[in-house]
Amino acid sequence: MTELAYLSDGAAGYVRSFRARVTALPPGGIVLDRTFFYPAGGGQMADQGTLQPAAGPPWKVTDVTKSGAAVIHRIGRPAGSGTLTVGDEVEGAIDWGRRHRHMRLHTAQHLLSARIFSLTGLRTRKATMSGVRAEIELESTWPAGLVLEELDADVRRFLSPGRPVQIRYVPREEFERFPSARAGLVPLAPQVDPVRIVEIESADACPCGGTHVRDTGEIGPIALGSPSTVPGGASRISFTVGADAPPTPGA
Ligand SMILES: [Zn+2]
Repeated sequence: MTELAYLSDGAAGYVRSFRARVTALPPGGIVLDRTFFYPAGGGQMADQGTLQPAAGPPWKVTDVTKSGAAVIHRIGRPAGSGTLTVGDEVEGAIDWGRRHRHMRLHTAQHLLSARIFSLTGLRTRKATMSGVRAEIELESTWPAGLVLEELDADVRRFLSPGRPVQIRYVPREEFERFPSARAGLVPLAPQVDPVRIVEIESADACPCGGTHVRDTGEIGPIALGSPSTVPGGASRISFTVGADAPPTPGA
């Protein structure tokens, strides 16, 4: 079993390096007792980076996946003849540029889904993210009254000044009594308790196990694409965030 250390709170999403112990070595992979590497899931791509043993060259992490309760760090063999044994300690280092882009993109997705829901009552049924581009699939056709320029202006109000983004855990029973209004299209697995809620101040509260920035001011400008229709009565809208994070205000 791997402790998903990146989940605990908002600050855990900003941990770039950590120490952990090897608990298993499946073919082509390394399992640790805990990890801050995000395994692919929920529309968010996996982290990449390195695992450095006490001696020898680092092992490159090319992909991270979940397998039951374990997280497998898929690795490329290092140059030279590095070896690892169960029980060894390694230092993990996350490719921060890639991860932070995913955090900005993912938080932007929450915000955009929340604003579309607030303006039209339409929920997001699927979100996919890759690089600096994401796509949101809505449960219905694009509402005639939702003008792209107005949505764009609406979303900007929540980016500057930035709004705090917080993580909180609520008991499952409490979540069932007061569910997040825009969630519910994809049922939570029965064993999820407590429920991890990602909250953008005065904009959104939604269950999620991904990584997010701590303030929407970190996202930078969001560029909306044109909405399109999906066969079966749904619609999609794509968007991008800048390749680099915006400068920190006042810095
Ligand atoms: Zn999320």
